[in-house]
Amino acid sequence: MADPRGFLKHTERELPDRRPVDLRLMDWKEVYTDFDRSHLQTQASRCMDCGIPFCHNGCPLGNLIPEWNDLVYKDRWRDGIERLHATNNFPEFTGRLCPAPCEASCVLGINQPAVTIKQVEVELIDNAFDNGWVTPVMPSKKTGKKVAVVGSGPAGLAAAQQLTRAGHDVTVFERADRIGGLLRYGIPEFKMEKRHIDRRLAQMEAEGTVFKTGVNVGVDITAEQLRADFDAVVLANGSTIGRDLPIPGRELDGIHQAMEFLPQANRVQLGDTVENQITAKGKKVVIIGGGDTGADCLGTSLRQGAESVHQFEIMPKPPIERAESTPWPTYPLMFRVSSAHEEGGERVYSVNTEKFIGDENGKVKALKAHEVVMRDGRFEKVEGTDFELECDLVLLAMGFVGPERGDLLDKLGVAYDARGNVKRDDNFAAVGLPGVFVAGDAGRGQSLIVWAIAEGRSAAAAADEYLTGTSFLPAPIEPTTVAQR
Ligand SMILES: Cc1cc2nc3c(=O)[nH]c(=O)nc-3n(C[C@H](O)[C@H](O)[C@H](O)COP(=O)(O)OP(=O)(O)OC[C@H]3O[C@@H](n4cnc5c(N)ncnc54)[C@H](O)[C@@H]3O)c2cc1C
Ligand code: SF4
Repeated sequence: MADPRGFLKHTERELPDRRPVDLRLMDWKEVYTDFDRSHLQTQASRCMDCGIPFCHNGCPLGNLIPEWNDLVYKDRWRDGIERLHATNNFPEFTGRLCPAPCEASCVLGINQPAVTIKQVEVELIDNAFDNGWVTPVMPSKKTGKKVAVVGSGPAGLAAAQQLTRAGHDVTVFERADRIGGLLRYGIPEFKMEKRHIDRRLAQMEAEGTVFKTGVNVGVDITAEQLRADFDAVVLANGSTIGRDLPIPGRELDGIHQAMEFLPQANRVQLGDTVENQITAKGKKVVIIGGGDTGADCLGTSLRQGAESVHQFEIMPKPPIERAESTPWPTYPLMFRVSSAHEEGGERVYSVNTEKFIGDENGKVKALKAHEVVMRDGRFEKVEGTDFELECDLVLLAMGFVGPERGDLLDKLGVAYDARGNVKRDDNFAAVGLPGVFVAGDAGRGQSLIVWAIAEGRSAAAAADEYLTGTSFLPAPIEPTTVAQR
């Protein structure tokens, strides 16, 4: 274990600083400064290697956290990244973007600040890339089986890497012009610079995974052709239909889904020219939706030079401390301040938008809203709280309702679950479609990167077994537990 007295000697949790707000708003780079490695080793030494490491369970990937905390503490970085890669294909994504449910279930966190697990994770992988330790892992034999992966978000990438390493010929089809799914076009540069995706893709290409961009499966390749040309298919096409707000005035100019706005900003950072870009420059922005997507719209709007930004949330403000309804070791409901929230804007809670008001040219100029309270699970208007707020850009960030149907899913003949996601059995197989597997948000509904990777790995194990009769690929989500989720 790491230092047996580490948690007694070092009671403080230390993380890298964020760059000063006025400085970071002038660029799109990640907000954190470098972290001294000796400080990280001190932090790793706080891990108690407790008898029952709840963090294993908290992490959907089952990351072997106490093992790599110990290895970092002992300066054995190369062994550390091997243990981390044993369970996680892409620690550079989770180490930057995961909300770290592992830390919420850290045993030290019962009466002290939790171990900085996520920081150890990201430093392990960044150090490994810096030292040239992330090299292709070639399959020991080829199976001659062909697998199509539809979608190149974290679920598709994890499935593709696992299946390529198991010896299959894997082609990833992506309808966008670049690989990465929401990692590429949803998550802003200031949360994760896109160079991290590119260096991982170089490894995957060297291993033999083939990437085809600009291919809308179901249109450019028909569903029948896909089934005929490949021995197995992994659907990792995400949950891409944004929840709408069908209130009066929704049709006005200047009201957009977050995922119309964010990808354009990311494209500009990647060097593209975007005609008629939706930009917050000089605008009064209202973001409807208080979650992470809303926070990404906030940070993007501030960097584009918005005049003002309000972020509306219909739910009440969460408690500052862990709510009683989410005791340790569950992921706590509590008030969080993301880097974007630190940078500006105003968060407004318990508010419901009633209508949008337009000018004579059909452009949104204000919205009408009121406060709400929740009674018996329903929101009720608080009388006398009506207000109007001027705005000329409204961004809808209220989550996603499921995968698009139509040419791909309907024509493949998938079934849907009660929430409109692709229905799969407890082994990630699409119901009624032998040889078709489902991973990530397409089957699970809107979720997290760590779950997408875990599902991609598990679906790969199931597909490998289908193709060869057996599989040595690890499946972080056991078949028996899928149905219980
Ligand atoms: C703005 C935003 C910020 C987020 N921030 C975080 C965060 O900080 N941390 C976190 O853990 N999670 C975050 N999430 C959630 C996370 O990004 C998703 O849960 C995750 O990306 C899902 O992975 P996926 O592979 O299932 O799907 P996606 O990443 O959505 O990828 C699906 C891909 O399939 C492609 N596709 C769809 N249909 C077809 C077709 N017919 N043919 C070819 N390709 C197709 C799409 O173009 C897309 O590239 C965020 C989500 C959003 C929207
Ligand atoms: S992937 Fe997320 S939950 Fe798992 S160890 Fe990393 S930060 Fe924690």
